[in-house]
Amino acid sequence: MDDLSDLYQDIILSHNKHPHNEGDLDPHTGVAEGFNPLCGDRLKVYLRQAEQGKGNVEAVTFTGEGCAISKASASIMTSAVKGLSADEIEAKVEEVVALLTAQDEPEIDLMTMGDLAALAGVRKFPARIKCATLAWHALLAALKDESAVSTEADG
Ligand code: ZN
Repeated sequence: MDDLSDLYQDIILSHNKHPHNEGDLDPHTGVAEGFNPLCGDRLKVYLRQAEQGKGNVEAVTFTGEGCAISKASASIMTSAVKGLSADEIEAKVEEVVALLTAQDEPEIDLMTMGDLAALAGVRKFPARIKCATLAWHALLAALKDESAVSTEADG
């Protein structure tokens, strides 16, 4: 298990150092800011669909400041959801939140899950789980073009 933890950590650190899709998105059809008061992470997620609420997501980007886990999770998120429909995105967010919060140890398949699997490594640090879910909650809010979301809301 220790080797796997190192692998997870490498993936997180690499995304934090070289985040994918960081920056504003212009034009965009949805934007939402996520705030995690426990850690101080503040991320903004932008996305573009053919029309607000319609069509597959053509692009997703993020901006903001946060800890390594929150930024890495945002980077992994932007790569994982590009091209998906709104329904597919909702399912993906559910999958990731379950990966992080389900009581039973999740089954990890590195081959099919890729970097998403690294987020499972955050399970070992319960205080940081909201850092990892932040970008995903903000993504859902951006789909609906809600302006702000706080991790305090998910109890
Ligand atoms: Zn954090």
